[in-house]
Amino acid sequence: MKISRIIFYDEPSVPEINLDNLIQFTHKTIGILPEKRRSILTYSNIETLKEIAASRIFKLSKPYKKHIPTIEEIEFEKKNVIDTSANQNITYYDGFELQNALGKTIPKNELGENIFHVIFTNKFTCTYDHNDYRYHGRALIASNPSIISTTGIIEAPAKPREYYIELITKSRQGVNLDTLKEKYKGTFLEYHDSRLSKIVEGYFLQALFFYETAQPFCDDKECRLYNAHWQKDLLYSQLETEGICKRHKEILEKIRIKTNS
Ligand SMILES: [Zn+2]
Repeated sequence: MKISRIIFYDEPSVPEINLDNLIQFTHKTIGILPEKRRSILTYSNIETLKEIAASRIFKLSKPYKKHIPTIEEIEFEKKNVIDTSANQNITYYDGFELQNALGKTIPKNELGENIFHVIFTNKFTCTYDHNDYRYHGRALIASNPSIISTTGIIEAPAKPREYYIELITKSRQGVNLDTLKEKYKGTFLEYHDSRLSKIVEGYFLQALFFYETAQPFCDDKECRLYNAHWQKDLLYSQLETEGICKRHKEILEKIRIKTNS
């Protein structure tokens, strides 16, 4: 195992992440007690903020192209340093560009491969898929640092098909969407969902497995490493299962042993 230290950067506007819970979970699972830090944005300088603004994407059908951020876009990132709760409308970011920009805020003496940085953010990370020529939302941008996007967790795995069909027909008819949400309540995660604290454990495990083994996902729905494309599957594999499948348990055990040696 490469890792001997883990640092979590909080997203203060989403207290439901419950980093203290994740710290305990990590300690129990791999025997390392992670450190908790403020939002990574509070460590950034103006150059990083400009890079974050430049990592925005505007057309989901086009691959990333660097753009010079406007003053408004830079101002928006400056405000985010103090308060991220103002992110009302969803802004899309290229996940790898954002990862690159945020990585620059990490002090040089903490860039060793033994220190694993996990950044929580409510910024919506997306990656371009050359197979279908469009961007897709992502909950996790793995590597070091890894980014776990709370907006990605809510927006990337799809809601039930019937929900979308009703959403389209009902919005045409001008029907109140709150009633629709009420009807499907519980079938998908909502903003500030109390289940987030449990869900982030699974994404953290995927980030850890990616960094340690380059294979973050499992095909087994009964395993928390299952790469869910539907909210239903995400809720199932993170909340309803026993945890990790036998094969991954064995790998995790090896990781744990190396950590402690
Ligand atoms: Zn598994």
